[in-house]
Amino acid sequence: MSVAYDYDAVSLIRRVSAREKLLVIDGKLVPSVSGKTFRSINPATEEVIATVSEGGVEDVERAVAAARRAFEGPWSLMRAAERSKILFRLVDLMKEHEDELAELESLDAGKPISAVLRQDLPAAIDTLTYYAGWADKIHGEVIPAREDALTYTVREPVGVVAAIVPWNFPMMIGMWKLAPALACGCTVVMKPAELTSLSALRIAELALEAGLPAGVFNVVAGSGRVVGEALVNHPDVDKVTFTGSPGVGRGIMKGAASNFKHVSLELGGKSANVIFEDADIAAATKAAASGVFFNAGQVCSAGSRVLAHEKVYDEVVERLTARAKTMKVGDPSDRSTMLGPVISEKQMNSILGYVDIGRKEGATVTTGGERIGNRGFYIQPTVFADVAHEMRISQEEIFGPVVSVVKFKDDADALRIANGTAFSLAAGAWSRDIARLQNFARRAKAGTVWLNTFGYTDVRLPWGGAHDSGLGRERGTAALKNFTEEKVVWLNTRG
Ligand code: NAD
Repeated sequence: MSVAYDYDAVSLIRRVSAREKLLVIDGKLVPSVSGKTFRSINPATEEVIATVSEGGVEDVERAVAAARRAFEGPWSLMRAAERSKILFRLVDLMKEHEDELAELESLDAGKPISAVLRQDLPAAIDTLTYYAGWADKIHGEVIPAREDALTYTVREPVGVVAAIVPWNFPMMIGMWKLAPALACGCTVVMKPAELTSLSALRIAELALEAGLPAGVFNVVAGSGRVVGEALVNHPDVDKVTFTGSPGVGRGIMKGAASNFKHVSLELGGKSANVIFEDADIAAATKAAASGVFFNAGQVCSAGSRVLAHEKVYDEVVERLTARAKTMKVGDPSDRSTMLGPVISEKQMNSILGYVDIGRKEGATVTTGGERIGNRGFYIQPTVFADVAHEMRISQEEIFGPVVSVVKFKDDADALRIANGTAFSLAAGAWSRDIARLQNFARRAKAGTVWLNTFGYTDVRLPWGGAHDSGLGRERGTAALKNFTEEKVVWLNTRG
C-alpha cells in the first residue's frame, strides 16, 4: 500500500524528527537523566517519525517534585479566575496549532486525518474549553447543621496527579485528565503511551507558552513498567487517573493502596449493540458498522458485539458485511480514508490471532480477516457470523476492526447476552418501541446506553464503567469531584 503524504505532513515529519523530543519537566524541555531514547513509529509506513527521550525513575522523581512545588506554590493558591484565563490561552494556542496537532496525532497513531480533524482534536479543545470555564465555578456549600455555628464545605484540589494515557485517543483522553485536574488546581505528571507520546509533549510546550507556571504540567514519556509504575508507587502522588487495559488497571489499584491514592480507572469493553426485529435495520446496521470500525476498532466502547434478533439476523449479517466491504482502508493522510492501520505490529498480530481463534471456534468470516499489504499495520474490516455468546471472540476485547454477530430469541435473551461479559462500559439498542428501549436501558450493565444511535460522547456527560471496565467516572461535573476533596469548616458563632 502506498502512502503519499501531502507537502505539509512531509515537512512536519522533518520538523518532528529533526531533533530529539524532550521531556517537559519543571517548565523546561529536558533530556532524560539516563540519556536513553526510544523511537516513535508511523503505523502507516513503519517509518521512524521521531526519537523521544525515554524517562526513567529519576525523571519521575524530578517531575513529581516539580509538580509538588508548583502545587504548594503558585497553582493551588492562584485565584481561580487567573487559572481559568491561562487555560483559555492554551485553548487559543491549540486552535492556532490545529493543523500541526492534527497531523502529529495522525502520523503518530496512524489515525485518518479526517477523523482527527472531526473528532480527536475538536473533542480535546472542547474538553479544555469546558473545564477552563469551570475553573472559577468550583465551590462548596453552606450546610446549616446547627444554630450556634456557621458550617460550610469547600472543595480543595487533591494535589499531584499522575495521568496515565493510552494510545488509541492520546490527545483527547489525555485532555479528559489534564483539563479537569488543572481547572481544580491540581498539578499533573502525564505519562503518555510509549507508542504515542508526541501530542502530549507538544501540548505541554504550548502550555508553557500559554503561561502555565513551571511544574504545573509535566510530561514524562517512557514505558509503563518503569515510568508508569514509578508514578503509581510514588508516595508524593495523590491521585492516579488511568485509561488502559484491565490487567494494568488491577496493578494500579494495588500500587495506589501504598499511600491510599485516589484512583479512577477507565478500562476495556465488549459493548453489545442490540438490533431488535422492529428496528430500522438499515439505520441500525449503518451505525453498527461505524460503531465498531471507527478508529480501526481500537475504541474501548466499540460495538464489537452486534446482537441481532433471529428474524432479522441474516439481513443484519448481510448489510454489515456489505458495509464492511465498502469501508475505505488506507493512507491516513488521504481525507477519504475511513480506517487507518492499527497501532503496532504487536496489536495487528493479536487481532489476527483472534480471527484465527474465531475460525477455530466455528464462527464464519463473511468478509475480511486478513492483513492488507506488507507495509503498515492494515487489517481488513472483519465480520464474524454464527458467533455463539460463549466464544472467546464474543467475550474478550479484540481492540481491532472485528465484529461478532450473535443471534438472540427475545428481549430477555438479548439482555442476558448483552450483560454476559466481564465488562460494563457501554451498550446500544435499536427498536421502534420506546418502552422496549427503556426496559433495555434500565437493565443494561453499562455506564452509557445508546438508544437508536451508537457511539456518541460529549465532555458534558460522565463516562466510565464498572467491573473490568473500570472504576469511577471521567468528564462532566463528575471529574470535578475526582480532582477535589471536600473539607468541612465549622465556625463557632456562640460568642
Ligand atoms: P495498557 O494498559 O497497556 O497501557 C495504557 C497506559 O498504561 C500506557 O501509557 C502504558 O504505558 C501504561 N502502563 C502499562 N503498564 C503499566 C504499569 N505496569 N503501570 C503503570 N502504567 C502502565 O493499554 P493500551 O494498550 O495502551 O490501551 C488499550 C487498552 O485500553 C484497551 O484494553 C482499551 O479497552 C483500554 N481503553 C479504555 C478506555 C476507556 O475509556 N475505558 C479508553 C481507551 C482505551
